[in-house]
Amino acid sequence: MKGTLLYGPGDVRCEEVPEPKILKPTDAIIRLSASCICGSDLWPFRGFNEVTEPLAMGHEYCGIVEEVGSDVKSVKPGQFVVGSFCLSDNTCPHCRFGFQSSCEQREFMQGAQAPLARVPLADGTLVATAELPPDDLIPHLLAVSDVLGTGWYAADAARVQPGSTVAVVGDGAVGLMGVLSASQLGAERIIVMSRHQTRQQLAREFGATDIVTERGEEGIARIRELTEGVGADAVLECVGTEQSMKQAVYAARPGAMIGYVGVPHGVTFDGQELFFAQRGLLGGPAPVRRFLPDLMDRVLERKIAPGKVFDLELPLDEVAEGYRAMDERRAIKVLLKTS
Ligand SMILES: [Zn+2]
Repeated sequence: MKGTLLYGPGDVRCEEVPEPKILKPTDAIIRLSASCICGSDLWPFRGFNEVTEPLAMGHEYCGIVEEVGSDVKSVKPGQFVVGSFCLSDNTCPHCRFGFQSSCEQREFMQGAQAPLARVPLADGTLVATAELPPDDLIPHLLAVSDVLGTGWYAADAARVQPGSTVAVVGDGAVGLMGVLSASQLGAERIIVMSRHQTRQQLAREFGATDIVTERGEEGIARIRELTEGVGADAVLECVGTEQSMKQAVYAARPGAMIGYVGVPHGVTFDGQELFFAQRGLLGGPAPVRRFLPDLMDRVLERKIAPGKVFDLELPLDEVAEGYRAMDERRAIKVLLKTS
């Protein structure tokens, strides 16, 4: 079969790879209904992470179960499933507290930019639908696997409540999903920091009420101005740079929580500054598994359409163009057709 391998900065290829096999009795093999490119795939693509051997790319997935290992009990061949990009047993103490992304057996999904993928820890990771979903819901269900689950976690970690004033730092796919999540959780006001017109439009569609185009100190000042000098009740940080993290901390009011889901690169904190800022931080890889059943239901009931975040669709063999389009910000998020 064809699969996606990253060889080094700027060098991603679709080429012949072996089909995945059951390696452990807890594995499942799924046939992907569609795949996509994640913003976090751009870090190694841009050379921020060292690549010592070709990486099998892709960690967002949904599809039909082809085969399961002998220990797998909760899913069976023929079922449609969505899984989290973090693989978890869903039984250890951290999983039971809802932090499946810190599972004692945690692994990260890989190799999902391909027609078939192996999902380790299938019982604890995959959630099946009652019946096969209609084709038009596939992009929305795929979005649940990571990008929506991550935006949702940012809102959950920031403790968005009904009536909250929320600030979202970042207008990438995760930031936009953060807007949708905050809106679903009942936020009254959602201020998104964005300079791109198409992204601003989508943010408004997802529930944003205010757009701030300024950045840095000016951006913080603008959010203060919009909140009568107080700051936001909850802030979602969806970028991961030093500047975006500072914006997030100081856009928040004292006592607020910042949910940070942009993978930090080059971000440092000063202990005393944080002490006097009096804001809370909770971030990390999203425990998407905690939210999967609820988010899948919202999609299946057509209450939300997170798949609108895909603004470019390409066949798998044009995956390299997909990476370039996202890297150059020509596309928000790319859907890959795997068959
Ligand atoms: Zn666990």
